[in-house]
Amino acid sequence: MIYLDNNATTKIDPEVLETLLPYLQEQYGNASSIQHRLGREANAAIEKARQQVASSLNVKDKEIFFTSGSTEAINTVIKGVFDNYQRKGKHIITVKTEHKAVLTVCEQLEKQGAEITYLSTDASGAIDLDELSESIRPDTILVTLMAANNETGFIHPIEHIAMRCQEKDTLYFCDATQYIGKEKIDLAQIPIDILCLSAHKIHGPKGVGALFIRRKSKPIQIEPLIVGGKQEHGFRGGTYPVHAIAGLGKAIEIATPSTSINELRDYFEAQIIQRIPETSIYCKEQLRTANCSNILFKHVRSSELMVNLPEMAIASGSACVSGDRNPSHVLKAMGYADEDAFCSIRFSLSKWTNKEELDRALLLLESACEKIRSQSPIWSMYQSGLLD
Ligand code: PLP
Repeated sequence: MIYLDNNATTKIDPEVLETLLPYLQEQYGNASSIQHRLGREANAAIEKARQQVASSLNVKDKEIFFTSGSTEAINTVIKGVFDNYQRKGKHIITVKTEHKAVLTVCEQLEKQGAEITYLSTDASGAIDLDELSESIRPDTILVTLMAANNETGFIHPIEHIAMRCQEKDTLYFCDATQYIGKEKIDLAQIPIDILCLSAHKIHGPKGVGALFIRRKSKPIQIEPLIVGGKQEHGFRGGTYPVHAIAGLGKAIEIATPSTSINELRDYFEAQIIQRIPETSIYCKEQLRTANCSNILFKHVRSSELMVNLPEMAIASGSACVSGDRNPSHVLKAMGYADEDAFCSIRFSLSKWTNKEELDRALLLLESACEKIRSQSPIWSMYQSGLLD
């Protein structure tokens, strides 16, 4: 299998696996059972991971909370802010290129009286910072805008977004799931109020993530989503998955932005453009995460392409909406036609992707596209100029 679906999930790093295994085997204590040694060891593992996450973001340990991943964090933040800030207002600002977790929560809250402003985007998914500032009102309780897009890799100017929100005294929540581990971040320098990340995107285990909530003189109040025991000071109940949290700590500690992925991605894209006619790359001239490439193969349906490439793991749209026959909501929001969105494929590389794999992938793609197009009446019409 040529695995080019690392934005969906990544293979666990052996160092991470080695770190987490003892907490499933000999050190299996409950981190809340600190009356005995096994419990205290588990508790120490949680606190070590908290430190590792905090130091990678350059924030305080107390500002880190563990979750089951970014979907939970997104639900917690948007619903929890909405519940607690109703005296200020019910207005939330976001954009239609966000992850479905954000958009679905916003849709749910609209039914409960929230007013959502969706900022406009250009063809690369970029927002207009002045439009953002103008959209912030006295009753705006939250701005929720991601750091890097999961489908295109497009990087938003999070520092500027954070400053615009700070100027208007509005909370800024940044979904950094696809950014952390790929780009450097220093939250001592960037005034983001709340940020989430997920371990399985950075060679860590699935089902665990972290939420950063800044300690401010005017404390940020988020109503907990999952209540039960007193874990995370009552902010997130439930027995700690110690192995997963220890794995997250290690994964974030060893995650380093890589320049070689960038070079491989650029090589792959140049070869595609050269060898396969009528292809184009989304956000090519924009700042993107180094590992991600979303490519339009004109009039080659991604569903058909994938059936013809059983030995390749690639994606049309995000994993969370696979099975969904609608075109990518991200590409649609960027202004692309349904037909183009249906003919786009995301390739996402990892630190382990090598040139030999990409060369094999290029050969397979070349012949699959040729085969599909040679049998396609739509492609013939397009070539004769009868179709856009
Ligand atoms: N946000 C973004 C940008 C993502 O890419 C993903 C995962 O695909 C999520 C949120 C959801 O993360 P998790 O799988 O940790 O729930």
